[in-house]
Amino acid sequence: MSRRETCNVVVIGGGTAGFAAACSAARQGASVRLVEAGSKIGGVMSFCPGMPWGGGYPLGTSIGGIFAELTDRLAGMNPPCAQVRPSTLENFGREVLYDHEAAVFAMFQMLEEAGVVCHLGTFAGQPVMDGKRIAAIEFYDRRGPLVIEAGMVIDASGDGDISAKAGVPYSLGDGHGNMMGVTLSFTMINAPWVRVFAKDDPYFQAEAAVGVAEGRLHPDLAKLYLMRGFHPDSVFCNSVHIRGVDGTDPQQVTAATQEGRRRCHQLSRFLIECVPGFENARMVELGPTVGVRETRRLEALHRISGAEIAAATKFPDGIVACDNPIDDVMRGEGEMTHAAAVASGSYYTIPFRTLVPAAIDNLLFAGRLICADPIAFASVRGMPQCMAMGEAVGIAATMALMAGLTVQQVNSDALVAALVQRGVKGIGDMPLV
Ligand SMILES: Cc1cc2nc3c(=O)[nH]c(=O)nc-3n(C[C@H](O)[C@H](O)[C@H](O)COP(=O)(O)OP(=O)(O)OC[C@H]3O[C@@H](n4cnc5c(N)ncnc54)[C@H](O)[C@@H]3O)c2cc1C
Repeated sequence: MSRRETCNVVVIGGGTAGFAAACSAARQGASVRLVEAGSKIGGVMSFCPGMPWGGGYPLGTSIGGIFAELTDRLAGMNPPCAQVRPSTLENFGREVLYDHEAAVFAMFQMLEEAGVVCHLGTFAGQPVMDGKRIAAIEFYDRRGPLVIEAGMVIDASGDGDISAKAGVPYSLGDGHGNMMGVTLSFTMINAPWVRVFAKDDPYFQAEAAVGVAEGRLHPDLAKLYLMRGFHPDSVFCNSVHIRGVDGTDPQQVTAATQEGRRRCHQLSRFLIECVPGFENARMVELGPTVGVRETRRLEALHRISGAEIAAATKFPDGIVACDNPIDDVMRGEGEMTHAAAVASGSYYTIPFRTLVPAAIDNLLFAGRLICADPIAFASVRGMPQCMAMGEAVGIAATMALMAGLTVQQVNSDALVAALVQRGVKGIGDMPLV
């Protein structure tokens, strides 16, 4: 017989979006269970340890909310475990570099302080429907089946398996099934920045061209994304992309991860042998699995579009500001691009309705499964924005529960006011500057 638990809100997925959703719902007084298939929270952030939080500073100002709280908590440690720096890549603005383990610890602490019950190593398998409601979700952990009945469900799983099984329509990647490339990252330590970054080219194209021409690097490594890590003389390598992988297929992810390991070891050897500054460096923190950027994008009350973000649209139900570039990564045969999303000095907001399904009464989304067209998706998907989406739906779920409303009936003015009260910037009547 299945074990059974009940709670007000169950959050599926402990990535940056699920973390913030669980904290925010629990802080509103809800009993919350956060269920994560892996052994750690962070999601992509933990699969690519050390990856900067980009996009949190539209127009140079923090988006506020839980993202700012976490950043301040890390920066306030002794010694400081986070720092805000300008990105070395085109159009990315300021970003947060942080000590990965300190960040994961701080996130677990925030969940603990909020009273969230965490289930790690627990996989969400199947929703149990009752008309237009998800009555319960069937999970599985090493002890066997576990059923959780919750008043509200937040799908922050990145891939949206449960929402799809509950009947929410979705598209994959660019709509033709071409999903962005997946990436295996690593860090090189003992690589003096003063030598590594002595030249101007942020992508090390001259060195990479030699490596590709000599057959020492895969042709997709013509641009090397090498960035200063948080710790001095550490270099974060976000370069090894594998194309054409369906992140919802565990076997494809497994194969891509092994191919990624091959290319990461090849790249690390190349850096040591051929790129000035890496002579005495070594590889650490090779990701446990590839980071998956894009799989399902769920259909919601509104699909944010490339045209809307280009027009710097500030939606009345905007829940977070953003000026992230169109960060498109090798969809199908495509290349990597970081074109500006909005005119310089401007930003757009992400509307709450992109996180609300049309036909299920007690389900909300947060994070990279947001309803967005392929262009808008390439901009909205940064970790700070994912945290902000989680924060918003955590509050919305609690508001709906307390008032006995469906998610579609949540008063978005009240939601935006609640977010502003919690320090979220650039939404409602409050422009960023
Ligand atoms: C390689 C790469 C580089 C990137 N670079 C940057 C960058 O520099 N800066 C930046 O800000 N953003 C970057 N991004 C984007 C950003 O990291 C992601 O969009 C964001 O982390 C997504 O967060 P999420 O919480 O929505 O989903 P995820 O991080 O994918 O988390 C989903 C979680 O749900 C869990 N899960 C899934 N299915 C189930 C299930 N059925 N049951 C239980 N648990 C489940 C997963 O294990 C995972 O932990 C990058 C992304 C990638 C992949």
